[in-house]
Amino acid sequence: MGELESFRNEVRDWLKASVPESLYGRPLTMMAREEPEAADLQADRKRYLERMVERGYTAPTWPKQYGGGGLTPPQAKVLQEELGRLRVPPALMGMGLTMIGPTLLVHGNDEQKEKYLPKIVTGEHRWCQGFSEPNAGSDLASLRTSAKLDDSGERYVINGQKIWTSGAQYSNWIFMLVRTDETTKHQGITFILLPMDTPGIEVKPIRLISGNSPFCEVFFTDVVADVKDVVGGVNQGWTVAKTLLNFERSGMGGGGPQRRPGATTGGGLVALAKEAVGERDGRIADTRTRDRLASLQLDELAYSLTLKRSAQTRKAGGAPGPEISMFKLYQSELGQRRDELAMALRGTDGLAVDENEVGPARAWLSAKATTIYGGSSEIQRNIIAKRVLKLPIN
Ligand SMILES: Cc1cc2nc3c(=O)[nH]c(=O)nc-3n(C[C@H](O)[C@H](O)[C@H](O)COP(=O)(O)OP(=O)(O)OC[C@H]3O[C@@H](n4cnc5c(N)ncnc54)[C@H](O)[C@@H]3O)c2cc1C
Repeated sequence: MGELESFRNEVRDWLKASVPESLYGRPLTMMAREEPEAADLQADRKRYLERMVERGYTAPTWPKQYGGGGLTPPQAKVLQEELGRLRVPPALMGMGLTMIGPTLLVHGNDEQKEKYLPKIVTGEHRWCQGFSEPNAGSDLASLRTSAKLDDSGERYVINGQKIWTSGAQYSNWIFMLVRTDETTKHQGITFILLPMDTPGIEVKPIRLISGNSPFCEVFFTDVVADVKDVVGGVNQGWTVAKTLLNFERSGMGGGGPQRRPGATTGGGLVALAKEAVGERDGRIADTRTRDRLASLQLDELAYSLTLKRSAQTRKAGGAPGPEISMFKLYQSELGQRRDELAMALRGTDGLAVDENEVGPARAWLSAKATTIYGGSSEIQRNIIAKRVLKLPIN
């Protein structure tokens, strides 16, 4: 038996013994959940998280010294597949694991890695991302939230505002970009970490038409930050931010549209089409619908094969480069195509929104955001043109 296969058997046995069966097929509680779960389910989730943390499996590929699992990428994939087989969600999710943690592994100093990474893997630190500002979205480098060094030279005083900060009201730490030099654009930005309970930080959730508040405005008035929490050096924040954005985009371009809750997946769309337009000789009766579906499925297959090929060629553990923008762009638009088709097939029935469920209408609506956050599709196209294809544009 190959090494990977014996690892798979070991993981399978361990998961069977460690994951409470009540969690099979149950999605991870989202932070915005309003109704608390039953006490026994909460206890099972806690137990599952503790066991995964003990084994380093909340951050499978991170070094063991920081609480990670020390797994190779193929081993981590096996773990993911085995969790998928049991239909068990990851024990922990969030920007700590997918964005700031990997970025600290690249740009953090030893002290920062030792201080922050172990608290991410246990879920003790929950992070939010303070990048966008009212006048700095696509043109992020025009951000103006300022950080001025005080007389001691050991502290920054931060003033300004962030917006669209997802989950700020549930987070206890923020990683953010601040302006430390006003005489230059990209070279005047610094990347800094801050506890959310620092005096002078005010979080205002933005209430959407749906009634939910997935993101917030965050105001900073004379907020004091420690110079030790600057990551990657003063005025070097743009480089650190690019690394982080590539990690963010790689999380959005890696899993296929089936990962979004409520989306119609796999054979589900074929069954839906047969129901909507009828079936002839075992096939979808209407040729236009059949063509549309076949073209989507071929594109999804080509995309997943390209993803596999790219995962094999990418150096193990290396940070993704600008090419990740191609995946973010393609996957988000592919997911929207699938949702559009699913909605069209459902007709007016598809418009029903169940308050308690993430159904197809919500999946379709939430997919709209995927071509905006992490940088809009237009911005991904600009990056691909400039930094991947090296076209001569300004
Ligand atoms: C659900 C969601 C969650 C988010 N979470 C966070 C978060 O946690 N933290 C955070 O910091 N931000 C977050 N954002 C903000 C997100 O990063 C910005 O919305 C995004 O970068 C676009 O910026 P903007 O909204 O200011 O739009 P703008 O920059 O004003 O763009 C408006 C339109 O103009 C187009 N455009 C702009 N510039 C160009 C150009 N040069 N070439 C071609 N087209 C262009 C854009 O593509 C877009 O269609 C979130 C956004 C959403 C939707």
